Amino acid sequence: MAITREGRICSFCGASGGPGTDVPLIGGLGAQICAGCIDDFHAILHDEQKHAAARHAMPWESMTDTELLASLPQILASAEQNHAFAHEWVDLLRSRNVSWAEIGRTLGVSRQAAWERFSKKSGDKSATA
Ligand SMILES: [Zn+2]
Repeated sequence: MAITREGRICSFCGASGGPGTDVPLIGGLGAQICAGCIDDFHAILHDEQKHAAARHAMPWESMTDTELLASLPQILASAEQNHAFAHEWVDLLRSRNVSWAEIGRTLGVSRQAAWERFSKKSGDKSATA
């Protein structure tokens, strides 16, 4: 079981990146960030005026309705990427023989609820263990 960055998007700008593209990604736990966003955020964090402005104003406050609407598919794509990552994470746990009971206990749900939520994509239909 290998979790890769292939086919991922930047969680911040929506750019497709990863292996085989010219958009390097880095990140973890489902969130990915591209080199361009790192550079942009780095520039903000290291410029006192830009950083002060960024701390006090959320970018969406100055966006038009059209800009907000245009961002919605990107937000959903990022959410879907994180959802898929959670499935891959559970697949990784299952490949290490972590039981559905332990996964459920960690999530505060029953073994059956964990299995119902995560087993469909992995193809693992055995709720035993
Ligand atoms: Zn980006």
